[in-house]
Amino acid sequence: HQEELWRPFNRSRVYMADLESTLHYSLRVELAAHPVITGEALTSLRKYISVLAKYFPGRPILMNLLKSLDSWLQHQTGDQVSYQAFSEILENSTQGPDAALPEGVRWVACQGSQPHLRRYPCGVWTLFHLLTVQAKKAGDSDPAEVLSAMTGYISNFFGCRPCAEHFENMARESLSEVNTFTDSILWLWARHNRVNNRIAGALSDDPNFPKIQWPPPDTCADCHGVKENGEHKWHIKQVLSFLEDYYSAERILTDYLE
Ligand code: FAD
Repeated sequence: HQEELWRPFNRSRVYMADLESTLHYSLRVELAAHPVITGEALTSLRKYISVLAKYFPGRPILMNLLKSLDSWLQHQTGDQVSYQAFSEILENSTQGPDAALPEGVRWVACQGSQPHLRRYPCGVWTLFHLLTVQAKKAGDSDPAEVLSAMTGYISNFFGCRPCAEHFENMARESLSEVNTFTDSILWLWARHNRVNNRIAGALSDDPNFPKIQWPPPDTCADCHGVKENGEHKWHIKQVLSFLEDYYSAERILTDYLE
């Protein structure tokens, strides 16, 4: 069985196969748990698909699909959408065979040493960071657009409810401090490290991928400063340029794509 084979990968790279797998799981599995989408959930879905259509650096066939889902959702004027109707566009886009989302998951850098470890939540973080970096590059809109769309998605649809609650609390506390695209990239990086810190050593930790303050010195030496009074110091400028490079569209590896 394909899923059981370990796929060798480079630990310091982002893989398109993880991102496409994340979109498959999000749009075909997670959303399918909501037969009727209405109110705030519908607004969140519209914003989520809209940022994907704008900023996801995907293959043309997938971008065509995201654009057709986006325009379909913008044209639904009623106050509810059924998952069934959404799924018909997802599977039979009006753009025909030139628009599709590959079926199934092929985890690569998000593989876990056990089937219940890593995978989709790892893919969500990866997608999330990637979009904050891509939005800065596009630079043509509201700097909080991506974070607000992703927070809405997490809060309405993310299957891990305690995760969603924790994340909503962090967003409520400080999302309003995000004024620039740089703030948005760094906000997410810092909050992800806070989550890493909180859940290090928990049962959800993959022993082969321990939760650390990221990026570690062997991945970005310049990101780390000299300790002051025993306290670790980040070099924020270096962290920012590291993140912008790490999550840039040009560096995404396309190994293991169908
Ligand atoms: P992940 O934390 O999923 O990270 C994926 C990849 O991102 C890493 O391999 C690394 O390459 C990169 N990365 C790591 N840290 C950073 C950073 N700071 N900035 C940029 N890139 C980074 N689990 C819980 O048990 N409790 C929770 O409350 C919880 N909340 C969550 C909230 C959200 C929004 C999400 C998406 C997930 C949450 N999870 C939570 C799941 C958990 O954070 C991990 O995703 C999961 O345990 C898998 O971990 P992982 O080893 O694949 O690394």
